[in-house]
Amino acid sequence: MNAIIFSENASVDLTAVLGELNYSSLFILTDENTKEYCLPLVEEVFPSNSTFFTIAPGEKHKTMATCLQIWAAMTAAQLDRKALFLNIGGGVLGDMGGFCASLYKRGIRFINMPTTLLSQVDASVGGKLGVDFEGLKNHLGVFNEPETVIVASEFLKTLPEQELRSGYAEIIKHGLIRDKTYFESLDFEHWKDSFWTPLIHHSVEIKRAVVKEDPKEAGLRKILNFGHTIGHALETYFLDGPRHLLHGEAIAIGMICEAWLSHKKLNLSETELRQIQAAFLKVYGNVEILDTDVPDVLDFCLQDKKNEGKELMFSLLNSIGDCTYNIPVTREEIQQAIQYYQNLPQT
Ligand code: NAD
Ligand code: ZN
Repeated sequence: MNAIIFSENASVDLTAVLGELNYSSLFILTDENTKEYCLPLVEEVFPSNSTFFTIAPGEKHKTMATCLQIWAAMTAAQLDRKALFLNIGGGVLGDMGGFCASLYKRGIRFINMPTTLLSQVDASVGGKLGVDFEGLKNHLGVFNEPETVIVASEFLKTLPEQELRSGYAEIIKHGLIRDKTYFESLDFEHWKDSFWTPLIHHSVEIKRAVVKEDPKEAGLRKILNFGHTIGHALETYFLDGPRHLLHGEAIAIGMICEAWLSHKKLNLSETELRQIQAAFLKVYGNVEILDTDVPDVLDFCLQDKKNEGKELMFSLLNSIGDCTYNIPVTREEIQQAIQYYQNLPQT
């Protein structure tokens, strides 16, 4: 598994990492926001023959069309097989930049500097790279590890609050699937004032332990998908519309729905179900899901399952801190879970 550096000073650590690697030239990918807010923190580090390339921000640009632009820029810069690719940005940049590096000349080395909370606690570990395609998230991609990941919480100072809150959902997830004490240590009331460095560290440790046991998602790694089956469907359904949800906002709803399924189908107690939903409602509030939205959301859930009958395999909780996987759930049960969320008291 790749090295992760928890950095107190991104510029110092990046200088050290670059100093240890033997490379012909450096290609630095940013989006318009990370170019403005993050690049200045490390700018003086780069050799003069480096190439900078900036793309438009956001999930809607996580496409093959953007990859073609990136590959064209890499080719124009005459990068050879010893070139080094550096991603400075959130999960969109990390997934797509790593994917571009992995395919260019059958693969050049890349480094990730994740700049959002979500990418620091989640996308920075596990080697999943790729882009969205034909409305399906991460439909095209590969497994490949970066040389190094430099996680520096100093980047979070400029991150919009809604983005910070989106990443927080993955932190909550890590507690729910593996570590009850961690979940109970989180201060949902004052989440904005969290001291991020130890939380990022602990979340990365949890994810790394799971991925190490099951790198290619043959089994255990599926527990990281808790909340994501329904969450992804909501994220995809709302992707291009005015009610757009960030990844973490969508999976927060997904985790309430899937906690309800855990209560209905496994042993998650009513007390823990209430504890979970109270935490999410405090941080994320209620999002309106209309009855007319539900059929399409269900279709997105079952997207790839047309030939596998009407059951989907979910990762669900036996209790807080104990997640299990491959639990079959029917379309009707998913519908009931979404209905449960719709009927929760307004916050
Ligand atoms: P993102 O990369 O779009 O970043 C969110 C927004 O914040 C963007 O507008 C970006 O420009 C801006 N931004 C980034 N850093 C900033 C900073 N420091 N200051 C100010 N603005 C900043 O999205 P994300 O939430 O980081 O990541 C979501 C993506 O990550 C999704 O595509 C998801 O599929 C992927 N992901 C991948 C994995 C994995 O294992 N590979 C895991 C989780 C999520
Ligand atoms: Zn996620």
